[in-house]
Amino acid sequence: MGSIDVRPDSAGVYADVNVMDAYEETADWSGLWTATVGSHEIHLNNYFLQDYSLYNRQAVVEHEFGHALKSGHRNDRYTLMYCYDDSRVPNAPAQSDIAQYRSYWG
Ligand SMILES: [Zn+2]
Repeated sequence: MGSIDVRPDSAGVYADVNVMDAYEETADWSGLWTATVGSHEIHLNNYFLQDYSLYNRQAVVEHEFGHALKSGHRNDRYTLMYCYDDSRVPNAPAQSDIAQYRSYWG
């Protein structure tokens, strides 16, 4: 798993993922991924993220990008796709996250 080339939307390039800031005090999520027609959306809730460490903010962003890459939730705190809260341990894909990615994308 190497780097992911993220290009901005332009006249000749259609965005696959749109990332938006949010400030939702009543929400129960720090990051939210949704698949919409034509593209995916990642919402980052600064109400929670403003108090997170850089390490944990990176973990939230990478978790949501994992969804955009078709990774599902895992019941393992030692994976990036752990879902029950933001106490996941890694802030980069664990071996099992990479295996899940490769099972879909090759
Ligand atoms: Zn998730």
